[in-house]
Amino acid sequence: MLNADLQFDLAIVGAGPAGTSCAITAARLGASVGLFEAKDFPRHRVCGEFVSAESLDVLAGLLQDVQAAESLFQAAPAIDRTRLLLGQRVIEAPVAPPALSISRYDLDALLWDAARRAGAAVHPNCEVVGSDGDGPFTLQTSCGSVKAKALIVAAGRWSQFTADRTLPAGPKWIGVKAHFQEPWTEPCTDLYFFANGYCGVQPVSDGVVNACAMVRSDRATSLEEVFTLHPKLADRAANWRATMLPVSTAPLIYRQPQPVRGSTVFVGDAAAFIDPFAGDGISIALRSGRVAAQCICAFLTGPAALSEAVGRYQQEYSRQFAPLLSAASRVRYLLSLPPFAQSAAFELFRFPGLLPFVIRKTRRAV
Ligand SMILES: Cc1cc2nc3c(=O)[nH]c(=O)nc-3n(C[C@H](O)[C@H](O)[C@H](O)COP(=O)(O)OP(=O)(O)OC[C@H]3O[C@@H](n4cnc5c(N)ncnc54)[C@H](O)[C@@H]3O)c2cc1C
Repeated sequence: MLNADLQFDLAIVGAGPAGTSCAITAARLGASVGLFEAKDFPRHRVCGEFVSAESLDVLAGLLQDVQAAESLFQAAPAIDRTRLLLGQRVIEAPVAPPALSISRYDLDALLWDAARRAGAAVHPNCEVVGSDGDGPFTLQTSCGSVKAKALIVAAGRWSQFTADRTLPAGPKWIGVKAHFQEPWTEPCTDLYFFANGYCGVQPVSDGVVNACAMVRSDRATSLEEVFTLHPKLADRAANWRATMLPVSTAPLIYRQPQPVRGSTVFVGDAAAFIDPFAGDGISIALRSGRVAAQCICAFLTGPAALSEAVGRYQQEYSRQFAPLLSAASRVRYLLSLPPFAQSAAFELFRFPGLLPFVIRKTRRAV
């Protein structure tokens, strides 16, 4: 249990890439930080594990243990190509600069450790169940109550802090992932498209691939069912052996970005969920967490009022991240077309330079 009168400058809910990035940055800027995470580390997470080049500098700057960061980057397969596969058709494009494929099991645990080393008070297995006030804040957690001058929510796509928890009518979208042995891995992200979903496959370590699908639950609820939805994927997966139990997540819902509510700041997926095919969710999580901490520290350790600091974050979010989310939502529209129209849209990507252009539009760092 927490001490009865535990008090921080900044309380952060959730310790995925957004929460840890925020905690590390704020602690380095001199704020006292409490980081509250419902689960423990290490743990697997549903994710394609494509870590875009845009995130690598931020990541290197956040990881305090330089040796651990170097060995993580060296061990991670570099991804320099992507292939889109629809039926028997294949379109290939370079990924330049290359991305890395890093298991979330390792990545999130290293960031958690870096937050602790930076001086944040880290609280695993401590779920935040509610909050009162709008600065200062009182949080109710599964381990007791906490007071903080500022609050940042980094609790991911779907939590008790999600503003609108109404589920859209009809079948829901789910995410499911596992790692499999595949001796002949290539440095490529393959995206297998089928009606109402797609599955990404990429190497995640020597001889092991990550298969991660986003699919409508009336089409498939397990990876085995997903594999049957694409003939080339079914052939490829026929001899795979799983190296972990599958993990899944639901619901996957896209909403308008909401980086601020009252004086509470939202970062990463808690502010907005970008379609996974963009491969930019981790990057936006790391970068929005860092920007939010910098803005809020102008209040915690500087002369700004809380409202000014929050307003500054809202402006930065609109400038840096909102354009990426809207570019991704335009591509998502193509993916949601009926099969004949999707097939025509797929052919568009053969136009030289179009696929690299779309990749850039969903990734451009300001
Ligand atoms: C199918 C799929 C594939 C994806 N593939 C990729 C990819 O290849 N590349 C990429 O860049 N992005 C990908 N993404 C997106 C990426 O996973 C997210 O954008 C990223 O994890 C967001 O980080 P976050 O820190 O905001 O949230 P999360 O990683 O979701 O972390 C939130 C944390 O908050 C904790 N939490 C929740 N509620 C509470 C609470 N009440 N109290 C305390 N703790 C709480 C959770 O336990 C969790 O640890 C994919 C997503 C999906 C669904």
